[in-house]
Amino acid sequence: MPLNPLYISHLASGGLITNYYCSSACRHCLYRCSPQWPKEYISAEQARENLQTVRRLGCLAVHIGGGEPLLNPEGVAAVLEVANQVGVHIEYIETNSSWYRSHAAACTLLDSLAEQGLSTVLVSISPFHNERIPFYKVKGVIAACRETGISVFPWVSDFVADISTFDDQKTHSMEEYQQLFGEDYLERLPYRYWISPGGRALETFGRFSTQKPISQLAAESSRGCSELAEVGHFHIDLYGNYVPGLCGGLAIGAEDLGTPLDPETYPIISRLYSKGIGEFESYATEVYDFTASQAAYGSKCELCYEIRRFLVVEQGVDSRELQPQGHYVYG
Ligand code: SF4
Ligand code: SF4
Repeated sequence: MPLNPLYISHLASGGLITNYYCSSACRHCLYRCSPQWPKEYISAEQARENLQTVRRLGCLAVHIGGGEPLLNPEGVAAVLEVANQVGVHIEYIETNSSWYRSHAAACTLLDSLAEQGLSTVLVSISPFHNERIPFYKVKGVIAACRETGISVFPWVSDFVADISTFDDQKTHSMEEYQQLFGEDYLERLPYRYWISPGGRALETFGRFSTQKPISQLAAESSRGCSELAEVGHFHIDLYGNYVPGLCGGLAIGAEDLGTPLDPETYPIISRLYSKGIGEFESYATEVYDFTASQAAYGSKCELCYEIRRFLVVEQGVDSRELQPQGHYVYG
């Protein structure tokens, strides 16, 4: 049976990934960002191309995320300027607050970004972030936003009480949280926080899921991964990769959006979209001699990631659709 090509004909809501390097390495990070990534940042030209693509496909507003975007304030300013020129509204910038040094310096930076049109900052608040970033920095950024008239989107306020139990001048490990709030603290986090089942969340939370044999996962996803067609929370990165759905490590060239994907160029995404994880596993076994390391997995996405990592890291596959390679190398 021929493959049914994925066709992204329009975009609803999403974001621009300006960089993958990050001052944190959160256990749940969908894009496996960390300090290990090279310090590469989106150029003004790539930002323009991405935003023109987004606009062409009907989306007139995006957010800016990373990695930590504000590790390069000049880069953020350039993106804001380009967004103004292209006519795409920037809804907010996400930040982990690690860049905070003093109230005065934070106000100066935020003032200058407000002049470029920045109106809202999404401030990350979670125990994952608190493993690497002292909470006084988060509070400092929130105070600086208030002083400079920038709206704060706290994500998520529900954790403030937990985090405030500890010394805000220091970082605190998940083990400390578990000692204080119970051994099952980590396991319960997905009930309090929207965590996408991808990226490092696969390793962090997969063990808490019911383990299913590959044959069962294949049968359950035999109608294909419709997630790949989701356009309600898309991302386009600094290399011109459109991330289909929330499937970090898979990529469609931004130039290929707006037309049905060619299965010759996108054999993996086409198989996953048409026939699901079973078809992808059969393809990887047949063409690349893949052998699963486990008999059962917590989700189809865990197996999907294991196969993709095998292709990139073990087999040296360099394809348009397994990008950025750092997702597999630095993750
Ligand atoms: S979740 Fe955000 S702060 Fe944490 S590693 Fe990923 S990009 Fe960095
Ligand atoms: S199995 Fe792969 S393609 Fe399908 S939803 Fe999971 S990560 Fe995405």
